[in-house]
Amino acid sequence: MSRCYNFSPGPAALPESVLEQARDEMLDWRGSGMSVMEMSHRGKDFTAISEKAEADFRQLMQIPDNYKVLFMQGGATAQTAMVPMNLLRSGQSADYIDTGIWAQKAIKEANKLGANIRIAATSESDNFMKVPSFDTWECDSDAAYLHYVSNETIAGVGFNWIPETGGVPLVCDMSSDIMSRPIDVSKFGVIYGGAQKNIGPAGITLAVVRDDLIGHADQAIPSVMDYAVAAKSGSMYNTPPTYSWYLAGLVFEWALAKGGLAAIDALNQKKAAKLYDYIDNSSFYSNVVSPESRSLMNVTFLLADDSLESEFIKQAVDNQLVNLNGHRLLGGMRASIYNAMPEAGVDALIAFMKEFERAKV
Ligand SMILES: *Cc1c(COP(=O)(O)O)cnc(C)c1O
Repeated sequence: MSRCYNFSPGPAALPESVLEQARDEMLDWRGSGMSVMEMSHRGKDFTAISEKAEADFRQLMQIPDNYKVLFMQGGATAQTAMVPMNLLRSGQSADYIDTGIWAQKAIKEANKLGANIRIAATSESDNFMKVPSFDTWECDSDAAYLHYVSNETIAGVGFNWIPETGGVPLVCDMSSDIMSRPIDVSKFGVIYGGAQKNIGPAGITLAVVRDDLIGHADQAIPSVMDYAVAAKSGSMYNTPPTYSWYLAGLVFEWALAKGGLAAIDALNQKKAAKLYDYIDNSSFYSNVVSPESRSLMNVTFLLADDSLESEFIKQAVDNQLVNLNGHRLLGGMRASIYNAMPEAGVDALIAFMKEFERAKV
């Protein structure tokens, strides 16, 4: 068996020890005589798994008691619809920050639902290569909420600060940097993210929702999209993706064993700094994101000669470094270095980039 270093933006690499544990528990979960996939979601074994996962996630993220953790489906994409449906009452409007492709998808979905929304800030004039500086934001103090994307996965642009919205609930698509560092959850109304970047396998979506934002929608919401229904049923109104929930739980245990989010943050900073430093000191590679907005999770870079891109990708694969191609909309390269990417993977990537550069210049 040989495992490569997988720089995929998502579904992304999982910690090897988590996969090994899942393998060992596959046929007979702790004497139950069956796989987690085969268990009733309402039975005592799965109840133990699901409750432990939630407790560990709460501990990792230091989630206050007045927030629900909802295990949902439909990815972050479904949340872009659920947020306006659950939070926006008639006559109200919501503010959105346009930071790039994922923010625009959320804006488009809200518009499609007929929501009354305003773009309070955009970084379009910077080609979305930085987050809009806070002094340019024109926020509505009566907005039902303010939505932003903390990490634009495609361009590799992220917030290193949390916006201050006064009393307006802050809603954040944290899909690609959730659990990458400690955050003050009490500053948010809603945090959501699909699992397949930093949490676990695809198929489960986490929404952390402040209690006072649940159950006040004045429109009919499909039951599986209603935060109030999910909260009341313990995220089991319908059958949840049990295996993804279990694997997410193993990832939470792994993260706690690593020392929690402060320790993970220190390692993430180190990994990203190594890669950006190397790129910045090279005349062969470049990163065009404004330095203060560089993502610690998705490091994008260009080659001085873009005709070498396919050769770079091919040689990288030969060196067990896979999924380095940039998003089809942007081109270039992208190394996604989420929590599960070990520092050795970043070191191997830098060594390969050096050798490729040496051979070409
Ligand atoms: C991946 C991603 C999404 C989409 O997630 P799905 O689970 O595919 O719906 C949305 N927003 C951001 C920031 C992402 O990185």
